[in-house]
Amino acid sequence: MSLKKLHGWDDDCEVIVPTLTFVATAMAVVNAGLRVVFVDVDDNGLMDIDSLPAAVTSKTRCIIPVHLYGKMCNMGVLRKLSEEQGLVLLEDAAQCHGATINNIKPGNLSAAAAYSFYPTKNLGALADAGAIVSNDEEFANMARRIANYGAEEKYIHLQNGENSRLDELNASVLSLKLQLLDEDNAKRRSIAYRYSSQISNKAVTVPYKGNVVDSVFHVYPLRVDNRREFQQYMSEKGIETAIHYPIPCHRQKAFTQYNTLSFPVAEQWAEHEVSLPLTPFLAAEEIDYIIETVNHYPK
Ligand SMILES: *Cc1c(COP(=O)(O)O)cnc(C)c1O
Repeated sequence: MSLKKLHGWDDDCEVIVPTLTFVATAMAVVNAGLRVVFVDVDDNGLMDIDSLPAAVTSKTRCIIPVHLYGKMCNMGVLRKLSEEQGLVLLEDAAQCHGATINNIKPGNLSAAAAYSFYPTKNLGALADAGAIVSNDEEFANMARRIANYGAEEKYIHLQNGENSRLDELNASVLSLKLQLLDEDNAKRRSIAYRYSSQISNKAVTVPYKGNVVDSVFHVYPLRVDNRREFQQYMSEKGIETAIHYPIPCHRQKAFTQYNTLSFPVAEQWAEHEVSLPLTPFLAAEEIDYIIETVNHYPK
């Protein structure tokens, strides 16, 4: 909404979004009154950068990479490409609190990055919350204004806006939890490292070909051929698993006009992805048990 207002984009302007993400990424575009253009993902489940040039039209204005599962997209390449094409970059950082790529955090190589503090995120509030980070003063002022009914001063409303304010209670909890973020992420990483090095069952594929250093592991995404059977087996052993995500955006009813499109890699992820438990609070014995159980599948 802020970018549209700042740049004066028309309603038929297009924003490129990966189809494998939480629907919020795409719905933010629709809710801003712009057009979504989906692209496929790569073998890490991240926006397929190679497919971008073909997706760009004369109406394209913006690209939104999603740092899915805690791993950041290659922002250097995305920055270069967006500069060449005259496009604005916006990051969905909802799953990568504390992550860096080449020591650079979200929001530094783009117009802005959006964080969610939904309770299950790496940095979670007590209820719904979120934040935008940006180095662009003009953008930041616009975003603040829109989030506060279009006002910069009390009762002086410069434009239309909404209430997207972060409440003080959650802000104070988040300030305290922020101090633990790096420590929590290190715990997540060490659990992911154990999963990746000790899961040896050929029936499952571990993420990132065993290279776990540059993710903050919001999710540990395994892939397995017969997911339903695998989840049933894990559940019988007392281990909860989850799916991120069972239906790619372009196959959702909310995006009917895109339903006939085909994004084969994202569809493969949607069919086979299964997430193992991963929180900083897992005990060593629980991690052992999860690894052992996965290695004994299907028996
Ligand atoms: C959680 C999440 C969001 C949405 O966050 P809300 O706080 O629910 O608005 C957006 N994108 C991704 C990738 C997410 O995981």
